[in-house]
Formats: sequence, C-alpha cells, structure tokens
Amino acid sequence: MASRLTTFQEILTRYEPVIGLEVHAQLLTRTKLFCSCANRFGDPPNTNVCPVCLGLPGALPVLSREAVTLAMKAALATNCTVQEESIWARKNYFYPDLPKGYQVSQFEKPLALEGWVEIPGEGGEARRVRLQRIHMEEDAGKLLHEGFAWSGEKSGVDFNRGGVPLIEMVTHPDLHSPEDAHEYLTALKAVLLYVEASDCNMEEGSLRCDANVSVRPRGTETLGTRAEIKNLNSFRHVAKALEHEIARQVAVIEAGGEVVQETRLWNADRGETAPMRSKEEAHDYRYFPEPDLPVLRVT
Ligand code: ADP
Ligand code: MG
Ligand code: ZN
Repeated sequence: MASRLTTFQEILTRYEPVIGLEVHAQLLTRTKLFCSCANRFGDPPNTNVCPVCLGLPGALPVLSREAVTLAMKAALATNCTVQEESIWARKNYFYPDLPKGYQVSQFEKPLALEGWVEIPGEGGEARRVRLQRIHMEEDAGKLLHEGFAWSGEKSGVDFNRGGVPLIEMVTHPDLHSPEDAHEYLTALKAVLLYVEASDCNMEEGSLRCDANVSVRPRGTETLGTRAEIKNLNSFRHVAKALEHEIARQVAVIEAGGEVVQETRLWNADRGETAPMRSKEEAHDYRYFPEPDLPVLRVT
C-alpha cells in the first residue's frame, strides 16, 4: 500500500502541523504554595505534609511570597505582562491524589498574559513563539503503583508533592513541526534555569509538557481539530509523539475520516499515542473564585 510507504517528510509537503504547548514548571521555592511544608523531591512519602496541603477541614491557605516572585521572574523573562490583579480559582475534580477535591489554580484572571520566547528560525534569524498566558497553581500528590511489598494489591498516595507551586505556561498555536516544539522547550528551559525559577528536572517531574496538535492542508488558514497528548516526559518524547500523532491524523483524514477532539496518552514503549478520554471542557471543572484567598495584587 502506497500510504504505508509515505514518509513523514512527504506528509509535511501536503499538510501543515499546528502545535501549541502547555508546560508546567515546579517553582524552586523552599516551601509549598500555601503552607510552610518543604518543597523537596525524594523525601520518604508523606513526610512533608500538614493540615493545609492535606485539605483537612478548617485549614486555611496563606500565599507564598517567594512563589509569586519566582512566577513573576519567569513571566518577565518570557516577555509577558504581569497583571496588577489576578484571581485564584478552584478547579474541581475527583482523584485520589487530590485530597481537597479541587486544585487551587487561576482561570479567568491569570498572573501574566501575552509574551514570547525566541527560537532559531530560518537562516539563523530568531522567531517568536507567543505565550498566551502564565498562571500559578498547586501541584497534586502522586500515586505510587510499585516498589512496596503490597504493590501487587494496592496503590499508595504520597502527598509530599501536593501543594507544591507550579506555573503553567501556554503558547499560542505557533509551532509547526516536532523540531519547533523541541527548540521551544529547549529555549524555555534555558530561560527558566537562568532566572532560577525552576530546576526544570524532567526525570523528577519539575518540568512537564502537554502537546496540542492538529493538521491542516498546506495553504489553508482554518485550524483543524486538535488532540491533546499527555505523558510526555522528555523533549525527545515530545518530538516523537508529535511526529506519530501528525502522521496518525493525516492518515485519518486521507481515509475520509475526521479527527476527534480528545486527550491521548503517549506510550513510549509502543511508540504511539492512544485515546485516554474525550476532551474535558472548562465547565466540567466548575471553576469558581477561591473564597479562602484574596485577589492577588502586584504593584
Ligand atoms: P484547554 O484549556 O482546553 O487546554 P486552550 O484553548 O487553552 O485549551 O489551548 C491549549 C493549547 O492548545 C494552547 O497551547 C493552544 O495554542 C493550543 N491549540 C488550540 N487550538 C489548537 C489547534 N486547533 N491546533 C493545535 N493547537 C491548538
Ligand atoms: Mg489545557
Ligand atoms: Zn503543608
């Protein structure tokens, strides 16, 4: 079959990939975002926890000034405009690693808007990848599925990571190849390391990336339907997963089908993406302003 022999390069002559990345970076603070527990990787499970980050009834959050400072450094270093007012919001969902039943995040009014990161373009000239927004949020805990005598029967939950400060940095759909995505991540990591906002250690989960990708016939403007790919734990996997997903979407279209909007998981062992769930919408999370935290004002 001819289509089996179609190379990725040949696909790119007919279709243009459109990619937007959402990067989560853990901030290099001494403490968590809303309590004084240590923000430290590798400690024994559930040793850096307190009533606030365990979501016990009556415990109230107090915002870390250091976290806001580091988030602002990251925003300024990526040419974003820090907002004088931003608002904390509850993102509600159920998962065992989320003791409160919601994540404190920012939604309608994020910390910073509209910036850019430069990547090498054609002929050595710099090209701008625009950022839509940077918002702050707390990390969730971590499920432990292996490494314990009882791992065959049950999973554990480690809440040391719960409440660790994150920034989420969202690009416009300005990237057009797996190489672009790789260049952007490399440039973004250099910026975050330089301002010491994050250690960007992907093995330890300090830097995590979700990739949104669609394809459109070359020469057309309308955006295609996108898939969001999760579980990308190295820059190389981001590029590989994008290549696979672009080829998959083109094959669907050329077979007369339609790409469906969904969240897909990258399986590094199989070298392919597989459906995980239909795409959630903002209203599924019942976002509402966090009543326990005041508006964040930056002078
Ligand atoms: P959500 O909140 O559902 O994740 P957003 O609208 O915030 O969705 O977009 C998330 C990311 O997806 C952004 O990086 C954006 O640039 C990218 N994106 C949006 N539409 C498309 C598309 N049609 N193709 C590729 N990327 C897209
Ligand atoms: Mg998203
Ligand atoms: Zn705590």
